[in-house]
Formats: sequence, structure tokens, C-alpha cells
Amino acid sequence: MKLAIDQDRLVSEIEALAVFSDAEPPAVTRVVFTPTERKARDWLKKQCADAGLVLRDDAAGNTFARWPGSDSQAPAIGTGSHIDAIPNAGKYDGVVGVLGGLEAIRALQRSGLRPRHSIELLIFTSEEPTRFGVGCIGSRLLAGTLSAGAARKLTDNDGASVEDVRRSAGLAGELEDVKLPNGYYKAFVELHIEQGPILEREHRPLGVVERIAAPASLRVTIEGSGGHAGGVLMPDRRDALCAASELILALEGAARNSGAVDTVATVGICDVFPGAVNSIPARVRFSVDIRDTDLRRRDAVIQKLEESCTATSAKRQVKIHSELLNADAPAESGPVIVSALSDACR
Ligand SMILES: [Zn+2]
Repeated sequence: MKLAIDQDRLVSEIEALAVFSDAEPPAVTRVVFTPTERKARDWLKKQCADAGLVLRDDAAGNTFARWPGSDSQAPAIGTGSHIDAIPNAGKYDGVVGVLGGLEAIRALQRSGLRPRHSIELLIFTSEEPTRFGVGCIGSRLLAGTLSAGAARKLTDNDGASVEDVRRSAGLAGELEDVKLPNGYYKAFVELHIEQGPILEREHRPLGVVERIAAPASLRVTIEGSGGHAGGVLMPDRRDALCAASELILALEGAARNSGAVDTVATVGICDVFPGAVNSIPARVRFSVDIRDTDLRRRDAVIQKLEESCTATSAKRQVKIHSELLNADAPAESGPVIVSALSDACR
């Protein structure tokens, strides 16, 4: 089957969607459940309706646009992504997966195909953690990995809850009903821009994701002892930031020496107390984000960090407390999908 999408239309629709933004172009800011995001979603739903797709919003604001297949009992083939955008994002993140999916459906329709399985475009709600501090709220609710009760309690910086904002956006129903039954989708494909530099550097236009890395996040707190930068001499110091530096470098070393390039570790937040030029850091708290496509390798890095905490604590006479906040499991893409995508790319 020879299929061709309407590339000009896809490009012009990506441009059209980018106009729904709270930032000056070309930047896009489109935070979930703001008037701008709702308008963008309405515009998108109109394009889906014009393509003859059957629309449904669930209670969380996930939008489903379905091209019904000839066998209504067969599980659907899903595709799609998100249209919410972090402040000053680009116009492709998420959008390519949504508008690309819609254009792919139109191309299949034009080819005269009558699918047996329904093909469903899914626009996730609140994929970005910008507003509620937790990412993928829509897809977590769909998968059942976030409970309705926990979702209801999430609030934004102004104290508005998920429950409030979804109700005022006109979404009816209960969050309990958002979870999809097991086997609802036969397969799911998402087209997404690359978020790293690798494909671009190698001049490869497309890549197929075989494994999805999972993050583990920790918070490490170090209690040393403060004092005046001029008054306390070096032999008497128990500097919390020097201890933190040692741990951060040990973490970097553990990730670099894991034996695989897929291991990454990052300290992105480091709070120093009291935080003055002439004051010895008495307390430091830093975040740790460790990701890998292999669970054992990732957990080995966590283990190494724990060992470094123990060693540094003894050596520098500081108290170190580490707390594991979250540890999702990595996932493997379905081999049938990977090989179908590889064939399509070739
Ligand atoms: Zn994205």
C-alpha cells in the first residue's frame, strides 16, 4: 500500500496550533486548562470532526477521536500525544504526535482502507508537570497508575485543584471512570520530536524507540555545621556543601561508569543554607534524578549513591539523609510495533 500524507496541510496545521499561545511567537506557552489551551483543544477537535472522527472527552479532559473499525469488538489502535506546552516551549513537542496522527488517519482514509480495528487519536490531558507538579496526569489515570483520589488532591500554585479546574472547564463525570479496561488498545504509537541531540547530530531523520527509560528521584539532605567563613578554621569544618559536592561527583561517576550510555544521573536543584558568602554551609538539600532503560543498572546507581552517603557521612562528620521519592520501572516497546515502524521507516 502506497500512502502519502498531505505535508503542506500538516505544516500549516502545526503553524495554526502554535498561534494558541500565551507567549510571543515563535515561543509557545500553553498550560493545561487555561483558556488558551481549551481554545487550542476546541480548534483541534473541529479538525478531527471534519475528518469524520467520533469525539469523546473523558472526565479528566483526555480527548479521544475515533475512526470506527468494521469490528466494534476489536481493540483499538491508538496514536496521539499532548498539546499542553511548558512556558516558552517550541511548536512541535506533543503537537507532532497529535497532528501527525490525524494526518496519518486522513491518509489512510484517502487510500480507501476500511480498518477492522478502530483507529483512535488520543490527546492526553496535563502531560507536562507545569501546573500540578506531576506529569502525565491524563495517561496515568488512563493506565490506572494514578488513583482518582490522588489526582483529585493535586493543586496548582494558586491552590486550585484538578477537580476544580476540570469542573470549571465543563468536564462532567467522575475521575474514577477514566481508567481504561485492560486490552482497550491493541497497540499504541506516538510520534514525538527527539528531546536529545543524538539523531540530529547523526543526521538521522527518524528513530524508533525500543526501550523507555524510567526515572527514579531522590532528595538528599546533609546536615553539617555552620559558622563564620573567617572564624572557623579548616580543621574544624563540617561543611555541608563540600560533602554534597563529593556526593554529586560520586553520582556522576556511578552513571558514567555503569557500562551503558543509557544511564544518566542529574542533580538539578541544590539549596544551600543559610546561603551567604561569608557563612559556612550548615545544611544542603539537593535533588537526584537517575534514569536508565535497565532497572538493575539504574538501581545499582542508587545503591552506589547510598554507599557514598555512608562513606562521606563518616569521613566528614556530617549527617546525611536520602529519601527515595519515586521509582518507575522502565518499559520495553512491543517488538511487533518496533518492527512495523522500522519497516515503515525503511
Ligand atoms: Zn512531549
